[in-house]
Amino acid sequence: MDCIFCSIINGKIPARKVYEDDEVLAFLDIRPLNPGHTLIIPKKHYRWVWDIEDIGHFYEKIQLIANGIRKAMNTEWVVSLIFGESVEHAHVWLIPRFKDDGHGDSINLKSIKQISDKDLDDIAEAIKNEINNLGNKSKKEPIIMSNDNQEYQEYEDKEEYIP
Ligand SMILES: [Zn+2]
Repeated sequence: MDCIFCSIINGKIPARKVYEDDEVLAFLDIRPLNPGHTLIIPKKHYRWVWDIEDIGHFYEKIQLIANGIRKAMNTEWVVSLIFGESVEHAHVWLIPRFKDDGHGDSINLKSIKQISDKDLDDIAEAIKNEINNLGNKSKKEPIIMSNDNQEYQEYEDKEEYIP
């Protein structure tokens, strides 16, 4: 198969990975529109994001990865783009934005940044670490929800929940 993303999943083409599980892979874009520009793809080859069977899991991980990027790149502002063009394997872009980052009101697709290999390695490492921190936290810490006067706790991992 000559799909470039499938080749990255198979390990035939190297990539700076920031997140990986059985279904999802995220890695830095080789033509970054900003430092921290990340691609998220399903490991199974789907043509369109709208075809992904477990899109709930996919977007849950996109949320986690976006929040990891926010921490690592020290910005609240992370935009998401889905074109579905150029590579015919479903993918979502997460691009952190910064003040005076050369884009203006919206992303300028021609504003590709020159970033050294060393800096890209460091960025990938920082995002990966923040994602791991967030991932571990969500497993351990209860989500506190309040409903009128009644307060209760709900655990992410239901199997660990002891009433
Ligand atoms: Zn593919």
